[in-house]
Amino acid sequence: MSAIELLDARKVYRDREGADLVALERTRMTIETGEFLCLLGPSGCGKSTLLNLIAGFEAPTSGEIRVAGQRVERPGADRGVVFQQPTLMPWLTVLDNVAFHLKLKGVAKAERRERAQHYVDLVGLRGFERHYPAELSGGMSQRVGIARALLMNPAVILMDEPFAALDAQTKSEMQEELVAIWERVKATVIFVTHAVDEALVLGTRIAVMSRRPGRIREILPFDASRPRDVTAPDFNDMKRHVLGLIREGSARLKQAA
Ligand code: ADP
Repeated sequence: MSAIELLDARKVYRDREGADLVALERTRMTIETGEFLCLLGPSGCGKSTLLNLIAGFEAPTSGEIRVAGQRVERPGADRGVVFQQPTLMPWLTVLDNVAFHLKLKGVAKAERRERAQHYVDLVGLRGFERHYPAELSGGMSQRVGIARALLMNPAVILMDEPFAALDAQTKSEMQEELVAIWERVKATVIFVTHAVDEALVLGTRIAVMSRRPGRIREILPFDASRPRDVTAPDFNDMKRHVLGLIREGSARLKQAA
């Protein structure tokens, strides 16, 4: 069974004038278990819309989305979500932020802490359990966000530009660590980004979306060895192809204007 199925999923919003705004055109695709799919495209092309539909934050206007064969109706513990800003609770320590969902579920304190510690270790935050969010760097805060999303052991991890606010060095470290975590937990990842290099460093497939909202232009498998070498010929060939697709999309848009 596929991890995720998009069965002609389509999303239409209303703009301020009340006119239809198609954020996602009818989309049919499947994502297999263990894939690392990057959704790549310029701002406003519908990446977050697609992610939010899979997360169950929004319902499709038509069509259906299934996760592990079940129709998505609402958010669920089978899908962990990591946002651009981790939105931690400032009055809770790192460990308690990670364990928060377990507290809501009424899990006893000792078990909560033990389970949270496992993920704190996994994201490289051992030694910072008792720190508060105000004492953390941007990269460390995002590690807490990732640990929190992993805590329920979700089959699917949905990430919306999680490293966009980080400096280049931290971003590159976090990308490497995310790949290591993904290889360990064997989850299916969907990762939204507007950065071509990031998609190519991370993805086993890259879905390139076009500027015109809501269309996946091409889905490209990418099986270059890891860690990915950004100077390798296969990396650069793929980058050229992806940039070409993105430029073509912008050129068409200008012609139509
Ligand atoms: P991206 O993640 O690629 O930046 P989004 O999925 O956020 O793009 O947005 C796609 C389009 O849908 C944009 O034109 C955006 O303005 C519009 N949109 C997104 N969410 C809403 C909403 N809640 N109401 C109205 N329009 C929306």
